[in-house]
Amino acid sequence: MIAVLGSANMDLVATVDRAPGRGETVTGHTFTTVPGGKGANQALAAARAGGDVAFLGAVGDDDFGRRITTLLADAGIDVSGLAVGDRPTGTAHITVDATGDNSIVVVPGANGTVTELTDAHRAVLDRAQLVMMQLELPLPLVTAAARYARSRGVRVVLTPAPAVPLPAELLAAVDVLVPNEHEAALLAGFADPVEAARSLAAGGGDVVVTLGGRGALRVGGGTETRVPAFEVEAVDTTAAGDTFAGVLAVGLAEGLDWDDALRRASAAAALSVRRAGASSSMPDRAEIDAFLTEG
Ligand code: ADP
Repeated sequence: MIAVLGSANMDLVATVDRAPGRGETVTGHTFTTVPGGKGANQALAAARAGGDVAFLGAVGDDDFGRRITTLLADAGIDVSGLAVGDRPTGTAHITVDATGDNSIVVVPGANGTVTELTDAHRAVLDRAQLVMMQLELPLPLVTAAARYARSRGVRVVLTPAPAVPLPAELLAAVDVLVPNEHEAALLAGFADPVEAARSLAAGGGDVVVTLGGRGALRVGGGTETRVPAFEVEAVDTTAAGDTFAGVLAVGLAEGLDWDDALRRASAAAALSVRRAGASSSMPDRAEIDAFLTEG
């Protein structure tokens, strides 16, 4: 089983010609509410790809929380460790202008209430082969969970987003670090992704740097591998990285070797960029299989 300890948000997306300046009101065109949060996205990507997934986190006692919980549960995800916090469900208030640029306000809400590793979290981690985390929950909690998982022999996969300097004790407990190239550069202090990956892998873990349309790069186990991206027409790259990480975790939990796990992750991410949306764009297992056989 794959445990995902992470954020669940409702994205509130308004499209405008241009974003309002200070004190200004502009009229928007469309408004949509889209379940998101890196934790929920990775959990959904993993479940769609056939993973046995349990989600740990918190939502509020409100409509957004209920909608996210239903979406996860309908995907077959165990939501018994998804607490209902006393703050509203986390929200991301997103304004997308005519050029596609966006401005975002994130209100962590219930996500910010997940501050301690509880007995319920430990019980799920004890049953997991692998735990997947990101940095949208409080850092001390992520660190505590990584250390606990490590002590139990549970593999720890971390997407370090949003990028913040990582405490050494957290990095030391991570088996697989999956940054994109910007996060890798920020964490390692090297702009070059190969150098950044080598430096982040120096502690002995595996590092997979995703490079958008240029694929990915793995450094670990004494080897360096380039993972080409599949050529597709990119429509919307939202959650490509979360799809990649979720499907990589499924491959690793199923015991695939690195090359196969990375190829499946790459295929799933490519399929997701061909369609608009975040969770709605993630492929299922059959689609990934068909894409890999038919190309
Ligand atoms: P993030 O969304 O976290 O910034 P990336 O942009 O690096 O992550 O994308 C993650 C993965 O998604 C890449 O490693 C690649 O496999 C796939 N991907 C992203 N953009 C494209 C694209 N234009 N064509 C094909 N695959 C893509």
